[in-house]
Amino acid sequence: MVVALQTLIDRSVKNMGTGIHPRVKEYAVELIRRAYKEGIYVQISSGYRSHAEQQRLYNQGRTSPGNIVTNAKPGQSIHNYGLAIDYFLVSDDGNTALWTVNAKWRRVAAIAKSMGFQWGGDWKSFVDYPHLDMQKRLSLAQLAAGKRPTIPPLSSSTDVEQVSKPTTPLPTNVLGTVEVLVDSLNVRNGASFTAKVEDTIKRGETYRAYEIKNGLYNLGGNQWVSAGPAYVRFVRNPAYKDPAAQAKKEAEKLANEKAKQQQQKDEQHIKKAIEKGIVNGERMNEPLTRRQGTLMIMRALDQK
Ligand SMILES: [Zn+2]
Repeated sequence: MVVALQTLIDRSVKNMGTGIHPRVKEYAVELIRRAYKEGIYVQISSGYRSHAEQQRLYNQGRTSPGNIVTNAKPGQSIHNYGLAIDYFLVSDDGNTALWTVNAKWRRVAAIAKSMGFQWGGDWKSFVDYPHLDMQKRLSLAQLAAGKRPTIPPLSSSTDVEQVSKPTTPLPTNVLGTVEVLVDSLNVRNGASFTAKVEDTIKRGETYRAYEIKNGLYNLGGNQWVSAGPAYVRFVRNPAYKDPAAQAKKEAEKLANEKAKQQQQKDEQHIKKAIEKGIVNGERMNEPLTRRQGTLMIMRALDQK
């Protein structure tokens, strides 16, 4: 008999621990659900890890028996902040753990990445195939200082920083999406190639771009990446409305309204002047503009 979805979820929720970030837990459960729909049975082996647990794990293969499983000391693992999970596959009956990194394993990673997770299998220095996390753009120092990433609720998963559903229409203020074509792309804190590099984004990740300036795309906030086609693939948002063009349109509309109001006032003054016999209205359309003429009339009215 095939293992029940709920069994996989229950086991996983238990393994993630109570210190897991509630949104990460929500996303992990959704990941299990989505994989299950494709006939892939996934379980989460670990989530939140206390500093004491991290120390014990770090000691393994160093001062205690076993293989080295981590390079992270307490506070250096994203697990210590409740933002990471590790997964593995189980047999159809749910009774055997399967640790072979095969097509199914990679498919789980792909689903997770589409939801905004970072995958340890993409790492270069210490490849960690079971690992997924939502560190987003925060450094360990920021995490240690208590900062946490914004992870939107799943119901609005189109707001996930990485675009999870390219087919979903983007808001009109989004210029388009940018997919990273290189292993690591610098994120600078200004629209200039000399601006400080504050972060990097990875191959295959897709982000929203809000504007382009000096050959760099703005990914929101003050985060800029090269717009070079060798580095990123840009897809324009057909619904995009340029805010500058919008503002210009608004300003023009306002100016037109103002001119129309002025003209109405002028007409009233002219009418009054005609009634009082100051002008007969005949010459009012001549070289002198109606506005200039009106000013003259108003002066004359004041003198009467
Ligand atoms: Zn991990």
